[in-house]
Amino acid sequence: MESVRKGLRSGDLEKDTYERLQCVECEEELTTENDPEEVGSVRVCPGCGREWKQVG
Ligand SMILES: [Zn+2]
Repeated sequence: MESVRKGLRSGDLEKDTYERLQCVECEEELTTENDPEEVGSVRVCPGCGREWKQVG
C-alpha cells in the first residue's frame, strides 16, 4: 500500500480547499479506517476502493 504522502506526490491524491484528501480519479473524498495492527490509519476511496496508508 502506498502512503498518502506518495499519493499526493504522484498526483493520485490531492487536498481540497479544506485540506481534505481526495482521490483525483474519482473526485471522491477519502474515508478513514483505523488499522489496530498498525500505527496510523488507512484512507480509502469510496469510488475505486484504493487505499493509502496515513502515518501519524
Ligand atoms: Zn478513487
